[in-house]
Amino acid sequence: MHYTEIMVRYGELSTKGKNRQDFIRQLGRNVRAVLHQFPAVKVHAQRDRLHVSLNGEDDKRVIKALQGVFGIETLYPSIRVEKDMATIKKTALEMATEQYHDGDTFKINTRRQDKHFEYHTNQINNMLGDYVLEGVPGMTVDVKHPDIAIRVEIRMNGAFLSSETIHGAGGLPVGTGGRATMMLSGGIDSPVATYLAMKRGVKIDMIHFYSPPYTSEQALNKAKQLTSVLAQYSGNIQFIQVPFTEIQETIKEKVPEGYLMTIQRRMMLRIAAQITESRHCGGVFTGEALGQVASQTLESMRAINDVTTMPVLRPLVSMDKTEIIKISKDIATYDLSILPYEDCCTIFTPPAPKTRPSLERSRQFEGYIDVEGLMKKAIDHIQITDIKPGEDFLNQDVDAFAELL
Ligand code: ATP
Ligand code: MG
Repeated sequence: MHYTEIMVRYGELSTKGKNRQDFIRQLGRNVRAVLHQFPAVKVHAQRDRLHVSLNGEDDKRVIKALQGVFGIETLYPSIRVEKDMATIKKTALEMATEQYHDGDTFKINTRRQDKHFEYHTNQINNMLGDYVLEGVPGMTVDVKHPDIAIRVEIRMNGAFLSSETIHGAGGLPVGTGGRATMMLSGGIDSPVATYLAMKRGVKIDMIHFYSPPYTSEQALNKAKQLTSVLAQYSGNIQFIQVPFTEIQETIKEKVPEGYLMTIQRRMMLRIAAQITESRHCGGVFTGEALGQVASQTLESMRAINDVTTMPVLRPLVSMDKTEIIKISKDIATYDLSILPYEDCCTIFTPPAPKTRPSLERSRQFEGYIDVEGLMKKAIDHIQITDIKPGEDFLNQDVDAFAELL
């Protein structure tokens, strides 16, 4: 079928009472931003749903773009025709014929907005039902559980027919859940955590620690590339890179080996929390999951979390690695995450980090370094890049990801 419009049904918006208007407006903005690449498309956000008029743009590509937008429950690709019974009948029959498989049942479901249309809802249902029954031999009616449901809407500006139902990304429109930072490494977990944070409507600023010359330019670009993939679900993302070399070298020199990792993490979180505060963001997200590695035990989280009262949010906390990997494949970050560039956390990792660091010891050993001075220096040298959806940072590897972007 050659669709002329996509009708978008909102997700959880309907339960949000007086905030509803803000949600709809934000979703409209996000949809328009994503569909910017299709200049002829027109978006109308209404109280109960959103209409996307294709005006000749490719329906499949537009649907694919819409499927990445949070706040959309379902998409109904539709055809607009004249409000004339003969044309409506013909279109309904074409739809039914195209979808019909042996033994299928069907139902016509009409809504009428234009109260001046010459037939009532039930009359339209009956007329179209009879016509389709006659036109598709073998098909029967089932009004409770039809295999094919043909939706007909008689609106002021035409008759709209649809039968396909496509699932959207669900969640809440990005921007309606406030703003937070994300501690993004180059691994598998933090990009998935970012996606889940965005899904609850949170606008994310990325914070990435890097340690040249121990970490390469490629490792930094990999984090930026992950950000550009994630920006496809949220629009542009501010990427904040924090130099971490001096802090790591100092910790390595001054702190007992068993606590290297804990103190590094404490410094990361302190800096992240300060950046979060200064940007008026409401929390810090991480990709930590309980029990995955040494730094991700409850004792360790407590020893690290000690440095801030800022909410530290961990969307993956109870997930299994296999579940996390599945999402990372679905959202197209997996292939990037497994590129073998070193992360700053792995370069100074001792062979046997403490899995149950004590809070007292952590505080004590941190006292061996100039926390305030080192922090200030790192924050004074942050660099911020505004990353666009699908932007390319890994030139020579681009072929491998061409289909992801
Ligand atoms: P990931 O797969 O996200 O790297 P991980 O399982 O490797 O996670 P860790 O290396 O212990 O676990 O990192 C835990 C969390 O700390 C990460 O999910 C991320 O939120 C944060 N983190 C680690 N390294 C960095 C970094 N270089 N810059 C910013 N945040 C980081
Ligand atoms: Mg990691």
